[in-house]
Amino acid sequence: MSEPVTIVWFRRDLRLTDNPALGAAAERGGAVIPLFMWCPEDGGDWAPGGAQRWWLHHSLAALSASLEDKGSRLVLRQGPAKETLEELLEATGADAVYWNRRYEPALIDRDRELKSWLQEEAEVEAKSFNSHLLFEPWEVETKGGGPYKVYSPFWRMTQSMPEPDGPGDEPEELASPKSWPDSVGLDSLGLEPTRDWKDGLAAQWTPGEAGARERLDRFLSEGLEEYKDERDFPGREGVSRLSPHLHHGEIGPRLIYREVRRYMKDGRRDLGKAELKQCEHFVKEIFWREFAYHVLYHFPETPTEPLQAKYADFPWDNNKEALKQWQKGQTGYPIVDAGMRQLYATGWMHNRVRMIVASFLVKDLLISWEEGAAWFWDTLVDADLASNTLGWQWAGGCGADAAPYFRIFNPVLQGEKFDGDGDYVRRWVPELAELPNKVLHKPWEAEASTLEEAGVVLGEDYPERIVDHQKARESALAALDAVKG
Ligand code: FAD
Repeated sequence: MSEPVTIVWFRRDLRLTDNPALGAAAERGGAVIPLFMWCPEDGGDWAPGGAQRWWLHHSLAALSASLEDKGSRLVLRQGPAKETLEELLEATGADAVYWNRRYEPALIDRDRELKSWLQEEAEVEAKSFNSHLLFEPWEVETKGGGPYKVYSPFWRMTQSMPEPDGPGDEPEELASPKSWPDSVGLDSLGLEPTRDWKDGLAAQWTPGEAGARERLDRFLSEGLEEYKDERDFPGREGVSRLSPHLHHGEIGPRLIYREVRRYMKDGRRDLGKAELKQCEHFVKEIFWREFAYHVLYHFPETPTEPLQAKYADFPWDNNKEALKQWQKGQTGYPIVDAGMRQLYATGWMHNRVRMIVASFLVKDLLISWEEGAAWFWDTLVDADLASNTLGWQWAGGCGADAAPYFRIFNPVLQGEKFDGDGDYVRRWVPELAELPNKVLHKPWEAEASTLEEAGVVLGEDYPERIVDHQKARESALAALDAVKG
């Protein structure tokens, strides 16, 4: 009998440690063929955006190097998936295909079809595993057996469930096939953007499993114990910045969960109640990600339709010019502009500021949350269908556990509260750097002499605000009346 040959189809699990599909293939014995197929068309309307593609390029390079260190390789192919798998099965004699699950609606459909084709027509073993979540979206249920639409009871239910599985180890050995199938060059996939944009991303991030682990270790030693107190201040290093690594599966939630729990138990020193609370808050955020996947899985229409159906008829204004000003960070509201510029320059934005800019777009500019979600989709390195949809519907007041539409963030007060010393705005809106804190978040209220001393001419160096928040608030509430009831 010939030796088994397993194709491991890498997708959003670009790591060797705690990779259940890879681990199972190594345990199965015989040769293992690591494969990545670039088939963006399979995601339907949600092919990876520009910033994600940049990340993917570098993450694939890192994965390929790690596999080579183990004496293996990463076979790269351009899709379509079915034809590519068919050809590879033929060329390699593989008798099994393993992968880790994805949860985007279009990909669930694709994977289901591929699995039955592999099992029934190609007659090979096809198995999928969970690498991406602590709990599968269908494992958490209300007492009545349905899905959750609110986070707190979801979180409480998970706390009464058995502990999530621990992370698996990196396989010790990956046996090579007798001969390797052809692979295309990484550059030929055309993932790297040609614009200079990529330099800003490269300065900020180290895609790949080692970069992810380094980020986690740094956060454990420098951020976790103060997380709850620090996480809302965008000018400080108070959050983990693990989101793009988690999104691409360079690190899994099981490993993060275990390391955080370990730290809480036997960290560098005995932690008191207050510090344990800080750490626990981080675990709760990891469960927001779980909740986002739960909602996407059970309500697969939400990327394009509000979960609360009455908002489908909201009278959006969708002013193209205002949308452009928001995208470019030229709204005249410093905290909004700082966030949008951070996003464009680094592919990431602090969570507090994501909430502020989203509220501003939806409520001050009356531009649909879908426009905002689309811009984030293209520019975020962590753009994630589950979390992005949840975040935008939260801001739009129309989703699961959403902020009610009538609760409208005041961008000046938010700036003063969460960037009181102005570090964040000064970093991203340098033309205002010389303004005193008192007016930094509302330059239109500054005396002419203050503006002059700071070298700012409003309307020239920095835009006049494009809307008056108080008036915009009233328009938003009037628009809300149209959908009430
Ligand atoms: P930390 O504060 O260190 O949290 C650790 C991890 O917990 C994060 O990496 C993330 O995986 C998870 N997490 C934290 N907060 C949330 C949340 N509110 N929802 C879901 N998961 C969470 N997150 C994405 O990963 N991708 C997105 O596309 C995305 N779009 C968003 C859009 C809007 C409008 C809003 C308001 C939020 C969005 N978020 C998104 C959630 C959140 O802003 C980011 O996960 C977080 O800022 C990432 O930074 P961090 O890794 O330092 O987070």
